[in-house]
Amino acid sequence: MTFGRALLIAATFFASTAQAQSVAFTFDDGPKLETTPLLSPQQRNQALLGALAAHHVQAALFVTCGYGADKPEGYALAKAWGQAGHALGNHTMTHPDLNDAKLTLAQYRQEVQDCDRITSTLPGYQKWFRYTFLREGNTPEKRDGMRAFLKQSGYRNGYVSLDTSDWRLNEKLTDVLRADPKADIEPIRLAYLSHLRQRAIAYRDLSRKLEGRDIAQVMLMHHNLINALWLNDAIQQFVDMGWTIVTPAQAYADPVYQLQPDRPAPGQSLLLSIARTRGMGRFEGWERLVDDGDFEINALAGSGGAPAR
Ligand SMILES: [Zn+2]
Repeated sequence: MTFGRALLIAATFFASTAQAQSVAFTFDDGPKLETTPLLSPQQRNQALLGALAAHHVQAALFVTCGYGADKPEGYALAKAWGQAGHALGNHTMTHPDLNDAKLTLAQYRQEVQDCDRITSTLPGYQKWFRYTFLREGNTPEKRDGMRAFLKQSGYRNGYVSLDTSDWRLNEKLTDVLRADPKADIEPIRLAYLSHLRQRAIAYRDLSRKLEGRDIAQVMLMHHNLINALWLNDAIQQFVDMGWTIVTPAQAYADPVYQLQPDRPAPGQSLLLSIARTRGMGRFEGWERLVDDGDFEINALAGSGGAPAR
């Protein structure tokens, strides 16, 4: 049997057993010990874990080890995720960009190995690697070199299918709160929820267009203030939309995550990468899937809610 045929059978099986559109929650760049308005690092971590526990959601945290997990107080925060039943993946030591011409393949591999020395001692440890900036390299040598390295070290690509720009709205939120700790942040909460909803529907539609079915989506969010404040609302919104929340391991069992798009510089959402491999990169509405949240920021400015940046 060919690989393609096996994939087709697996996909058909998966489609017939899936009941509703499903999504797994994954968080990058944590735990972070940086200072933010309103909450301490411990409070942010606890708020994220509390929202997940309240909805019985098992998620994944892709640890950027140099942001805190390499120190005792940050390590304790990462450990709390594992102890709560969440999966812990690897997102490098210092978050370098593999597409940076000055960064070598050897340096990037070292980043993964250094972080692995920390994550491998944590409960919930998984050999899942998430590329920083979702960029798989600016040259075929880096791309193939990393793919070979991951395979050889038993790592899977911690793909994202449902990409969000929560980080951009988080920047806006922290700017507004730094300028005025008592600012009305309700317009930002509404923009955040509307952004997640828009991306979810758009990536579901893209999955149907490309694969002819609803894949199990893997959503990217970040370990940051905006999610610490409103993750509870975000999860509830998916429930209200009728989506089923699955674990990242369940989502990664979808055969779509075995694909390795053959592109010169693959990256971003796996679905966008697949679309580009098939020459369908510029479908209607594609701009909204790759923007950095500027649509929401502009809408905020227009609403007279939070001040423009
Ligand atoms: Zn990241």
